[in-house]
Amino acid sequence: MSYPVEQIANIINASATLRVPATIRYLLTDTRQIIEAETSLFFALGNHPVRNGHQFIATAYKSGIKNFVVTNTFNTANYPKANFLKVKNTLLALQQLAAFHRSQFNYPVIGITGSNGKTIVKEWLYQLLQKDWNIIRSPRSYNSQIGVPLSIWHMGSQHQLGIFEAGISLPGEMQHLQTIIVPTIGILTSVGDAHNEGFSSLQEKIQEKLLLFQQVACLIYCVDDLPKGITLPEVPQFSWGNDEHATLQIQQFTYHTKKTEIRFVYNRNEGTLVVPFSDKASVHNVLTCLCSLLYLKLAIPVIQERILQLHPIDMRMQLKKGIQDCTIINDSYSNDIDSLAIALDYLQQQAAGSKTTVILSDFLESGLPAENLYHKVVHLLRQKNINRCIAIGANSMSNKAILKQAAEETYFFIDTAQFLNEWFRFSFQSEFILLKGARKYAFEQIAALLEQQVHETILEVNLSALAHNLRAYQQLLNPTTKTMAMVKAFGYGSGSVEVAKVLQFYGTDYLAVAYIDEGVTLRKAGIALPIMVMNVEENGFNALIEHSLEPEIFSFQLYHRFHRFLLEQGIEKFPVHIKVDTGMHRLGFEVSEAVQLAQQLVSNNTMWVKSVFSHLASAENPAQDFFTQAQHLQFLNFSDTLQNILNYKFIRHIANSAAIVRHSAMHHEMVRLGIGLYGVNSLNEQGVTLQTVAALKTTIAQI
Ligand SMILES: *Cc1c(COP(=O)(O)O)cnc(C)c1O
Repeated sequence: MSYPVEQIANIINASATLRVPATIRYLLTDTRQIIEAETSLFFALGNHPVRNGHQFIATAYKSGIKNFVVTNTFNTANYPKANFLKVKNTLLALQQLAAFHRSQFNYPVIGITGSNGKTIVKEWLYQLLQKDWNIIRSPRSYNSQIGVPLSIWHMGSQHQLGIFEAGISLPGEMQHLQTIIVPTIGILTSVGDAHNEGFSSLQEKIQEKLLLFQQVACLIYCVDDLPKGITLPEVPQFSWGNDEHATLQIQQFTYHTKKTEIRFVYNRNEGTLVVPFSDKASVHNVLTCLCSLLYLKLAIPVIQERILQLHPIDMRMQLKKGIQDCTIINDSYSNDIDSLAIALDYLQQQAAGSKTTVILSDFLESGLPAENLYHKVVHLLRQKNINRCIAIGANSMSNKAILKQAAEETYFFIDTAQFLNEWFRFSFQSEFILLKGARKYAFEQIAALLEQQVHETILEVNLSALAHNLRAYQQLLNPTTKTMAMVKAFGYGSGSVEVAKVLQFYGTDYLAVAYIDEGVTLRKAGIALPIMVMNVEENGFNALIEHSLEPEIFSFQLYHRFHRFLLEQGIEKFPVHIKVDTGMHRLGFEVSEAVQLAQQLVSNNTMWVKSVFSHLASAENPAQDFFTQAQHLQFLNFSDTLQNILNYKFIRHIANSAAIVRHSAMHHEMVRLGIGLYGVNSLNEQGVTLQTVAALKTTIAQI
């Protein structure tokens, strides 16, 4: 589907400045996900005054984007060859456009919401129904105020059924999602007590979720699940549970090791169903699917056969250490063009310039003509400069002529077995390998070959939670305030390289490590951000210079040693960071030493002060606020003295995670983010909502 840009201007009620003819096929909210610049419409989203989508318009314009939806006040003068649609609220405009697009189609649409299991129910329904219907569904967990309109935009006239999930975190949000999805069948998945955040009670949250179902022809839900006092919308219902009034009444569960038998009564007939899972959550989700299939009039024997073929779904992209210093990104639960774009993004972010290989299966039912599809794939891979593409499957084989252009080197195999026979031909070495395969290609066999043997105890690090936490703190800062992320101590135990790559990708300004070798590791892994090193030793001076690492200077002894070294090397104005001790009593100059230090810096000229900083001892503790304020005053005193004598601008920073939240007057030009990035809130009070980054998992040896 495509729309002329004029029509879109009408649909979203924009005041339009149109300078070039354009037809829109793709909607973009992130400049890193361009599929076809020419036909893309970029929505500048975000409610932060400066850190928002408008910041990326210049980048987008350079990449060839010609169509933009911006807020009324945006100055378009610098972009003479582009179309601008000005609106009051860009997110609302995106939603309006999606709602209009939705209204063009008359086929059934399933809308799914709940606390747990939305994505799994969606993916399972897809597995169960794809034989009978051409289905369009949300990619991954695209269920937010932005994800839903982007998903809906992919509806086309070739489809026969839509399955979309909706997730909310605040009151008022579901109403918007309802008008975009307009589901004709509603599914409420498990409503456990997962994150009530943003709502006063579980009841309030469920009631809000039910707004999705105002107009459905049938609402599918579990009766036993609903807490008291919930009012269901007045629509036809298909319920399941122990309750004798349930449409599908459950009589008994019999749990075995790997399967569960369910006895039920439906339409006054007794029946049994065997489910290939034995955990309660999966059984719950299967029953929700069962009701949906019964409602769609599938016969029980057919349903039984298909349910036995269901497989568990792990929606996360997994990053694992591979053989020969490789890193494996395993994303092979499905393969479609949208999830390929997301996975390639992640690959690029993690590879940060290292060699990349993509192992790709055929796409199943993309709904596009093969030629079209493979041109898109080529475009996506070329954009990310993939070094090597290994394509597996008969369709890829027959589109070899196109797909050959996807990477510097391309290889083709008819099926996974053929690749497994010949994989030793590829000397995989120190590269990032993305496995992207539809389920039936069984890429887990490839993963097993490429991944290093894993121990039974693993530390799992959630990098998207890390990105979330960074954004949560950035929202609290002035637009111009920089962030220095502390990745010392192996990223507080989370793996410094992977963590640093995420931080670099999401726009941290500075990194800080404890020791020189940590900095060297980051440089070798392709991290280009400025890096401050806190504990510098004399025998590391060479490495410091060689890898452009910037030392913290914390005493006259260190100052003199480094000065002599720079003098011998003939280096002037080497960037350094001056630390002053204002009460932490770990490292740092005395406040009284400011004049002496400044005079030496000026007369020697071997170093250039990039920043002056100090560390707070108890910024998280309200009882110590008086002490914290005193530290701050001493810091200002020291940095003012230095400023007057040096006579050039440097960055000042004193705020750690806790002070970012509690002492906004101490932000200055930069803040240092430590423990909070990793999801540990040192504050009891609210103010910032963090996600847990690390989980340690092990196997029970014996009970
Ligand atoms: C660790 C560290 C931080 C970060 O402090 P958090 O309380 O973890 O945010 C900031 N500055 C210095 C000098 C540090 O060593």
